[in-house]
Amino acid sequence: MSVLRQPLLLLSRSDAVRRLVSTMPVSSGIVRSYVPGETTDAAVATSAELVDGGLKVTLDFLGEDTTDLAQADATVEAYVELLAQLSARGLARHAEVSVKLSAIGQALERSERGTGHQVALENARRICRAARNAGTTVTLDMEDHTTTDSTLAVLRDLRKDFPETGAVLQAYLHRTEADCRELAHEGSRVRLCKGAYDEPEEVAYQSRLDVDTAYVRCLKILLAGQGYPMIATHDPRMVEIASSLASRYGRERGTYEFQMLYGIRPEEQRRLAGAGETVRVYLPYGGEWYGYLMRRLAERPQNLTFFLRSLISK
Ligand code: FAD
Repeated sequence: MSVLRQPLLLLSRSDAVRRLVSTMPVSSGIVRSYVPGETTDAAVATSAELVDGGLKVTLDFLGEDTTDLAQADATVEAYVELLAQLSARGLARHAEVSVKLSAIGQALERSERGTGHQVALENARRICRAARNAGTTVTLDMEDHTTTDSTLAVLRDLRKDFPETGAVLQAYLHRTEADCRELAHEGSRVRLCKGAYDEPEEVAYQSRLDVDTAYVRCLKILLAGQGYPMIATHDPRMVEIASSLASRYGRERGTYEFQMLYGIRPEEQRRLAGAGETVRVYLPYGGEWYGYLMRRLAERPQNLTFFLRSLISK
């Protein structure tokens, strides 16, 4: 993997750098290529365009690692407003939401409303209820490995009332094959990605080859299982392998889907959709784009030059 990956991922958690670059408007070239807008209106307008082009969408109101209860509540409100607009615009059949539990309280110390885990669960319930009322679903994003147990526990609790809630599993974690087996049951929606955080070798595969082979093992479990796999990757080899595994396991189209991030390989997104596959675009929006952008730069350090140039010309 690139030598720049680890430093960039470390920077993604730096508050000082976050404060420095977050003054950049979202319209700056490199930010704009990954995050189409800051407002709900902009996110809904971009969703409508993607849906018109035959794609589905999952929207992420940007934010993470919140240590402020009021900010966590404001994030919940933003999702509730977004879901109401998606419903009003007739988009809810094609657009769901992705939620990071650390943005809605998971990282909080104990407060008058309980532990961070409890606050995140209560807040996630509000978002799931709003999604249910709008006629759509929620997927819980997965963050660094210290949060995996808590996130999967929140998922289990949510699914008692909202069984349509989806989860993300990261192939780079050693534990993930076992988690895939556990979640490959009927009615279970699982997004499989490679994993975007800087993880130690005690818990995660480090080489590209090891991560890719783990991804394929997980794909086999999910595609052979009874759930609804959401194959989140831009890697052409993984897309090809997933397609042939889907036929090998007798999966009809529509019993699984491909997912890609907004702005990455858009022509491939359209090609797959044109070939009859279900393709969902992950659409982040809002002012808190820093951590998200740094993870994208870590995946593709070639883009770093564009980013630094836009900072200098600010
Ligand atoms: P890679 O081998 O990294 O990339 C394959 C090819 O894709 C590259 O050669 C390049 O052509 C293109 N590409 C990849 N990244 C970029 C980029 N940033 N800019 C331009 N081109 C690029 N990770 C989590 O840890 N938790 C999550 O909840 C999560 N949710 C995700 C949701 C979706 C829909 C997707 C697509 C990814 C998500 N990720 C998440 C990120 C994921 O873990 C990977 O970090 C990311 O997808 C890159 O891995 P890859 O499978 O695309 O393969």
